[in-house]
Amino acid sequence: MSEDESGEMRDVLEHLQSKGFNGCLICGQHLFGVGPPQEIVFAQQDTAVMPVMCVNCGHVIFVSVLHLRPESV
Ligand SMILES: [Zn+2]
Repeated sequence: MSEDESGEMRDVLEHLQSKGFNGCLICGQHLFGVGPPQEIVFAQQDTAVMPVMCVNCGHVIFVSVLHLRPESV
């Protein structure tokens, strides 16, 4: 179970870094916690997002799981 969680965290952070993400936008630190996927209802498309929270200041960003599927990149 813990292996799956660490795998998800690494994938999300690797994805963000591959898109130019370089630390927390608010405080600049590089330690993040990744929460379980959350279902979000949008007007045009329902999707799940993964919350990524800065462990230093608590700033939270959401990453769509659509971004984490290799076939959709
Ligand atoms: Zn921060």
